[in-house]
Amino acid sequence: MITYKPVCVTGASGFIAAHIVRQLLVQGYSVRGTVRKSPKNYPFLLGLPGASERLELVEADLLSNGAYDRAIEGCDYVMHTASPYQINVKNPQTDLVDPAVNGTETVLESCLKSAGVKRVIFTSSIAAITDEAESNKVFTEQDWNTMSSLERNPYHYSKTLAERAAWDFIMRKRPKFDLVAINPFMVIGPSLGPSLNTSNQIIRDILMGVYPGIMDINWGFVDVQDVAKAHILAMETDTASGRYLCSGEAMNMKTLIALLTSSGFATYSLPKINLSGKAGTLLMKALSFTQPRDTGVYIRTNLGRTMRYDNAKIKRELGISFKPAKESIIEAVKDMVQWGHLPPLKNVK
Ligand code: NDP
Repeated sequence: MITYKPVCVTGASGFIAAHIVRQLLVQGYSVRGTVRKSPKNYPFLLGLPGASERLELVEADLLSNGAYDRAIEGCDYVMHTASPYQINVKNPQTDLVDPAVNGTETVLESCLKSAGVKRVIFTSSIAAITDEAESNKVFTEQDWNTMSSLERNPYHYSKTLAERAAWDFIMRKRPKFDLVAINPFMVIGPSLGPSLNTSNQIIRDILMGVYPGIMDINWGFVDVQDVAKAHILAMETDTASGRYLCSGEAMNMKTLIALLTSSGFATYSLPKINLSGKAGTLLMKALSFTQPRDTGVYIRTNLGRTMRYDNAKIKRELGISFKPAKESIIEAVKDMVQWGHLPPLKNVK
């Protein structure tokens, strides 16, 4: 399906959104992306194939009322990805929650004003499903994070409140458009722009020896290109509805480090001490207080637990298949070297 009206992508400069923009352009769509600075600051977007004919960049900030009116006017579909993605912030309320929640309401208000909007695809997160693994539970789209707060995993809190605000908006205002949420886990892979994304940074930090040992912790990985594809399929599939937990396989830190070692990255400062047993977990919980505040909280709420989740709904309803995590992880490392986020292997001591 090709719509000649532009698809609006908020936060087009972001790691995930840039891939959405790229894939939309490749598929022949016109795109109106929102950015925070003047468009000339985004050569990596303006240089995408098809961008000169079919990409328009519009300035908008989540904290400014009415900021998205012009970007959304005349669009059938809106992908709302913009939201701060940082784990450690000074002020969780103003740095995370306000832009996430007020921004979502602002974007949805603009959709309401623009008569033609048919569907909003909202980039939510596993963070809105849970902020901690529960070893005996398999998480699904039915689950909501009820544990996070401004003090406990505030990024997770911001994503939960923002997704709740989006569904509440639909319930209260009964707009003509519907809402579909995509809830990815840890998104990794190549970046189209120069910024280092928070989730790729976790792999970089492991390679650079930021963590003192191999911890008993696991994550679900999903390739950034698959997440972008999921957004587009959610737009194109008429029957898509509700939330979609979007993640490929889960991997624990021990397996991740073994993979990095066997893939030629052993000369980085990978952690070597095994702290994944019961005593190691206790030690790491104590050491987590030496980490930046919110990283420490995340470690303490997830150590010693195994995260399990069910990704059947997105595979069944959107027909997506996930790239193996191993390939995405290796590609992410090579890409970080190319962007200068990691020293090239020959310079690694
Ligand atoms: P990025 O940090 O790369 O992208 C975030 C985007 O939001 C950027 O375009 C950023 O603009 C924009 N943004 C932040 N604050 C504001 C603001 N006040 N006004 C306007 N725009 C703003 O992160 P990702 O691409 O990873 O994240 C995109 C979405 O995906 C987010 O909603 C995030 O929560 C979600 N997500 C990400 C996951 C991941 O592992 N990466 C996992 C699950 C969900 P600027 O470039 O100017 O900073």
